[in-house]
Amino acid sequence: MEKQVILSVHAHPDDEASKGAALIARYSDAGVHAVLVTATGGEAGDILNPAMDTPEVRADLARVRGDELAESVKIIGYDRVEMLGYRDSGMPDSEANQDPGSFARADLDEAAARLARIILEERPQVMLTYPEIQRRYPHPDHLRVHEVSMRARELAADAGFAAEEGEKPHVVAKVYYHVWTPERMRALHAKFLELGKESPYSPEWLEGAEADYEATTKIDIRGYHSRRSAALRAHATQIDPESRNWFGLSDTEAEDAYPTEDLFLAMAPDGYRPEGIETDLFAGL
Ligand SMILES: [Zn+2]
Repeated sequence: MEKQVILSVHAHPDDEASKGAALIARYSDAGVHAVLVTATGGEAGDILNPAMDTPEVRADLARVRGDELAESVKIIGYDRVEMLGYRDSGMPDSEANQDPGSFARADLDEAAARLARIILEERPQVMLTYPEIQRRYPHPDHLRVHEVSMRARELAADAGFAAEEGEKPHVVAKVYYHVWTPERMRALHAKFLELGKESPYSPEWLEGAEADYEATTKIDIRGYHSRRSAALRAHATQIDPESRNWFGLSDTEAEDAYPTEDLFLAMAPDGYRPEGIETDLFAGL
């Protein structure tokens, strides 16, 4: 059988821990080769954990975040990590946003070519990336991840580009977007209440929560939630260990409330139509 390869494209160190970490841990344990590409060093990130907010950490944030990333990917089980080498663009209208080296300002084809080279080397069947529409958290780098991923897929499939790189073209058969469904938020909220814990979600917020995309695909992550939690904790500057949002439920409670990580199947081989909800990223291949 052909080697199974998943490529995950993320914007900042810590995104690989908050999105899809448990499902990658599961596939990695099953012998699938998992490759992470992180676009930026996360230099513009705030320090969200008060205990880590020291002048030493601030002065050296890019290196600290690099070390955190190395620890996180070891926990999750990624086999290879590549940085695209751009600077964190920060939030819209912030100073970092003006930096010509920032990911949001990078030339689309140049950035996509860097990613396409990794696609040609690794030849993934499956790519996990970010959706075109991201209403809940429209970070410029996260939007750029979508554009660069889609353009890189085109370049890797282009015989001319591949020939320049001395490779055969490669078509990434399936592309998925990470999605946070309102049903997931509601299930977690209900679990907090059931256990008599304070929920990080307000009823008003849940009321207005709308799906940007439906979940077409649900990957069972029971037994793997703890790897996601440990990976998040590895990002000590970014994730407050006291955060109710991340750690208010234990791993078992969270899995019990909502046992899957959800995705939207954005691109699939011609003629492939899953019946009902997909439960395997490699289905139909
Ligand atoms: Zn991010």
